[in-house]
Amino acid sequence: MPAKSQSHYEVIVIGAGVAGIYQIKLLSDLGIDATVLDAAGDLGGTWYWNRYPGSRFDSESYTYGYSFSKELLNEWHWKERFSSQPENRRYLNYVADKFDLRKYMQFNCKVESAHFDETNDLWRLRINDGRELTCHFVIMAVGLLSIPTPPRFKGMDKFKGRSFHTFYWPHEPVELAGKRVAVIGTGATGIQVIAEIADKVGDLTVFQRRPNWSAPLNNGPISNVEMADIRARYDEIFKTCARTPGGFEHEPDRRGFYETSREERVALWDKLYDSPGFAIWLRNFREIFTDEKANAEFSTYIADRIRRRVKDPAVAEKLIPRDHGFGVQRVPMETHYFEAYNRDNVHLVDISETPIVEVTETGLRTTQRDYEFDIIVYATGFDAITGAFDHIDIQGVDGVKLRDQWSEGPSTFLGMMVHGFPNFLMPSGPQSGSASTNYPRGIETGVNWCTNLLKYMRKHGYTRADATLGAQERWAAHVKEMYSAMLMRKAKSWFTGYNSNVPGHEHGKIRYLVYNGGSPKYVSKIREVADKDYAGIVFGRRSSRSGKGVGGEHFEEVAR
Ligand code: NAP
Repeated sequence: MPAKSQSHYEVIVIGAGVAGIYQIKLLSDLGIDATVLDAAGDLGGTWYWNRYPGSRFDSESYTYGYSFSKELLNEWHWKERFSSQPENRRYLNYVADKFDLRKYMQFNCKVESAHFDETNDLWRLRINDGRELTCHFVIMAVGLLSIPTPPRFKGMDKFKGRSFHTFYWPHEPVELAGKRVAVIGTGATGIQVIAEIADKVGDLTVFQRRPNWSAPLNNGPISNVEMADIRARYDEIFKTCARTPGGFEHEPDRRGFYETSREERVALWDKLYDSPGFAIWLRNFREIFTDEKANAEFSTYIADRIRRRVKDPAVAEKLIPRDHGFGVQRVPMETHYFEAYNRDNVHLVDISETPIVEVTETGLRTTQRDYEFDIIVYATGFDAITGAFDHIDIQGVDGVKLRDQWSEGPSTFLGMMVHGFPNFLMPSGPQSGSASTNYPRGIETGVNWCTNLLKYMRKHGYTRADATLGAQERWAAHVKEMYSAMLMRKAKSWFTGYNSNVPGHEHGKIRYLVYNGGSPKYVSKIREVADKDYAGIVFGRRSSRSGKGVGGEHFEEVAR
């Protein structure tokens, strides 16, 4: 771990998750004096925190691992097609240890503020342990879903049993046998946890406000032989991921929806329903994402699948979404989720009909009745994408606060920079390609781009980079335009900035948070900027008037 006495770095990376680990690897390779700060007790980000039962990838494991080291790819054996949280955390620790990255990381360090000091061209970071650290560059590797949002029910502190948000699932084993458990929320997290604990608890009551479309994950083990084959094909696998819109192995069916017969469509869907992972979503016809009628036909197909799996027809109907079509929100992948409702110890409460009124000392009260529980699990989602930025007091030039600037939604340049916040880089920021792709594939792109920008600046002796307002406005308009064709723009989900537990986000007013143009287009856009000597960025260099280094420096914009 870096000496706590060191107070200045060239680069400070915030976040030791998937992006932060790769970022510090590249910085250390370049010999740049850098540290990584993380509020958690150890590295891993998402995979450090989300320890709830059932937590696992919905990306094929071998497309989730880092691609930067052949040696690493050859050493690591993914045991399951969709690997579980403990294994994922073990992987990230393995990577950090293999490349000796831990020595750059500082844990239990929550960054409370980051202010740009214009006079000295420095970022000043205040840490929760009382330290002030300075650096020339801040790199935000804060993750997309790192601020959990519990509900705001009356009486939540009164409950005498155990209660927690899934993100904060206790690190020590939780005794579930014989317990009366409530799960609130049926997003990807709720669906995973419900399916996993249904046969382990005494009694499980699911409180569902809106159902989600969900389809089988079709997980399975990866044998030594299969892993050897995967290793031999890694180049090809990553090449496929790079050319698909979502950064997965799954490529859309390029036949036109309306050019195929109903029988052909159903044949495809029957095959996809039994295929692993997001195939059902991403190997489908492209019209599913853009055409109401095509989407409705496919949604009806999935609704019938749900009816076939849930014995009680009334329960089945409640599990079928009515307010949005399949795939216009991120699709939760499940393993025996629907079958959980066939168990006698599992009950579904539709809180759109009988809302939760309060948490009591012994359980939950809805408008209809009281329920008693030993454990209440809040699977109620995240202040997605911008939340982690809003939780730090970030101030740029002239003390402008980022959270004020983004109060109606973010505006960025390439999802990686913000005008007026010089030397502030976001390899997986709002409106970047990482936000809507297979995450590691996206962050490798973002981290590479940010690192290349640093290299370019070093080569030219630049010490300051800021996106122009014009370039930022053009990017924000492009991001907005990419939403216009997609049905997802109409859905109330974290892709559009909806969250009923975050003030200002509860009404579902659309925020343009993710880049919807697909990975290949995103990569070509950011590459074009780099190839044109980073058009859209104004560079500057410090000229030392006093020659005294950091404190006595003066900034000059560089004419290009
Ligand atoms: P989410 O998709 O936002 O779902 C939150 C759920 O909680 C929704 O069902 C929501 O109902 C409900 N809810 C929220 N506030 C509530 C309240 N006050 N009262 C009652 N119900 C409430 O969050 P998530 O399930 O954590 O998933 C977020 C994202 O994390 C996923 O989309 C995915 O990207 C990622 N994730 C990935 C995996 C994986 O397999 N790798 C697993 C889990 C999560 P409404 O719909 O009515 O708002």
